[in-house]
Amino acid sequence: MICPHCQRPFEPGRPHQVFCGPKCRVAHHKATLGDGGLRAPVRTVKVLSSGQVSVTLRFPPQEAKNAFSLRPGMVIEVVSQ
Ligand SMILES: [Zn+2]
Repeated sequence: MICPHCQRPFEPGRPHQVFCGPKCRVAHHKATLGDGGLRAPVRTVKVLSSGQVSVTLRFPPQEAKNAFSLRPGMVIEVVSQ
């Protein structure tokens, strides 16, 4: 496998391992804050009468400044872990 942070090949020590180690996992998490890599727990999921799905996320105070840059109508990528 190739580590998505340092681009070096590594042998996963456990199933579903994405990064070569904890340093890269933490560094990647920090590097992606504010650029679409926000992490937040899902609080509510509602199916609207139109059939669309409304999802509410709750951000901790230290990440709220990044969440506020999200605007209604903005297209973002949602990745489930
Ligand atoms: Zn790495």
